[in-house]
Amino acid sequence: MSGAPAESGRVESGRVESGHVSARPVLRLRSVTKRYESAAETLVAVADATLAVHAGEVVGLAGPSGSGKTTLLNLVIGWDDPDEGLVERRDDVTVGWSGLAVVPQELGLLPELTVRQNVELARRLGGDRQGRALDAVDDSVDDLLAELGLTELSNRLPGELSLGEQQRTAVARAVACSPTLLVADEPTAHQDELRSDMVIGALARSAARGGAVLIATHDDRVLADVTRVVRILDGHVTDG
Ligand code: ADP
Ligand code: MG
Repeated sequence: MSGAPAESGRVESGRVESGHVSARPVLRLRSVTKRYESAAETLVAVADATLAVHAGEVVGLAGPSGSGKTTLLNLVIGWDDPDEGLVERRDDVTVGWSGLAVVPQELGLLPELTVRQNVELARRLGGDRQGRALDAVDDSVDDLLAELGLTELSNRLPGELSLGEQQRTAVARAVACSPTLLVADEPTAHQDELRSDMVIGALARSAARGGAVLIATHDDRVLADVTRVVRILDGHVTDG
């Protein structure tokens, strides 16, 4: 079967209206609900959420602490399953650094590897992405480390870094293979203004190279630079 039909309203005269943003979403959530049940109560953390993220765009998922951002990202990534609704990922959102790359809130660096080795390992495991221009992947690891202000720290272990430096290493690792879908949970939470700009720049470049990027954040600096903001409040998502 050839590609999915274009979404109504997005395509005119066979061309995608919004530049290089593709018609078929990389990610789509359809009426997704996630509940946390305890003996005392049932908490609806994500309530009937519908959302699409296309290649080439950076979507900011904005909401206060406790609004359901991390829960929604966990459903997107597949670390958790919805109670209701569908999470649809395009076929090229494969498991691995080139298909689906994550900057988790807890960062998840390998403690026995240096900054450079953490990034190089992702590059090796992810390899080249199939079927698309790989100019992104031609960036050297040196370039990536420099872009995120990590050059001087490249031979240190994660345990020898500040939280902000660890977080930028996790960002470098996530963009290393120019992933089809990149999901980042509050990726500027530990950064100052200058270094937030480095993080935002690296994530934006991943989208410019054709990836879809979803960033959970309550940082206005990030939201000022995204393609589109989706708001979440008490689990309710407003897309658009
Ligand atoms: P955010 O990332 O926006 O801060 P979360 O998705 O972490 O929000 O949390 C949304 C809501 O779900 C909060 O009320 C939180 O307390 C609750 N929650 C998150 N994880 C769990 C869990 N594992 N069990 C029960 N409640 C949870
Ligand atoms: Mg969170």
